[in-house]
Amino acid sequence: MVNKYLEWLLDQLAPCSCQLCGQATGRPVALCEPCQRSLACNSSACPNCALPSAEAGELPCGHCQQQPPAFASTTAPYLYTQPVDGFIKQLKFSADLCQLPVLAELMSRPMAQALRRHGRPDLLVPVPLHWRRQWRRGFNQASLLARQLRHHPLLRDWSLQVDDRLCTRRRATVAQHGLAPEQRRHNIRQAFSCREYVSDLHVVIVDDVMTTGATVEALAREILNQGARRVDVWCCARTPAPTDSIPSGQCKPSAVTPY
Ligand SMILES: [Zn+2]
Ligand SMILES: [Zn+2]
Repeated sequence: MVNKYLEWLLDQLAPCSCQLCGQATGRPVALCEPCQRSLACNSSACPNCALPSAEAGELPCGHCQQQPPAFASTTAPYLYTQPVDGFIKQLKFSADLCQLPVLAELMSRPMAQALRRHGRPDLLVPVPLHWRRQWRRGFNQASLLARQLRHHPLLRDWSLQVDDRLCTRRRATVAQHGLAPEQRRHNIRQAFSCREYVSDLHVVIVDDVMTTGATVEALAREILNQGARRVDVWCCARTPAPTDSIPSGQCKPSAVTPY
């Protein structure tokens, strides 16, 4: 873990090479701009839950229309497919902290747009891990990601506050992957608790990937139960529903981030 942290610190100081094509990136991020532009964007998605859909527009998807989620909007700019899923797994399961600036870079522009659209939130709340899983892993990737985001050049002027002590995961839920959607919802129900009231606050939940949305739904419900005015969700990537074809699009051309 210490070596990984040193590696990451050195990478912040030195120019990086791109982890996909090997070329120098010219920025402190291990992903060059052409490779970034080639990633599969979640460009056509439900505004509430970010589920990719060919028909998506301003209207929520059928599921959100029938059963609106507790959170007001989800910003999830990429599809959870290769190589973005690899960046996230490298961070989570190999403690590759060099992926933090990569994920923050991928998220920064859509998050800046979300800030302009929905206003500055009072708090960023990373999805908490159960203490046992965090102890085993040594870190909470959502918490590191939220902190990386608040320092990103496109976001730092917003002076975002990260609170990773507000919510705790009180049950050691079994790993979500491999479970059917209904099993996930059952697994996660009442899994979170807030330490204090958040009366009238606007909260943004931060996570690396959104799968069925059951985890952020449970957390958003708990935060709203504690008095929050509004909850939004920011994550890097979204998993399509298993039966969906995956509509992916070219990301909009973006200017160079001023590092
Ligand atoms: Zn590249
Ligand atoms: Zn939806």
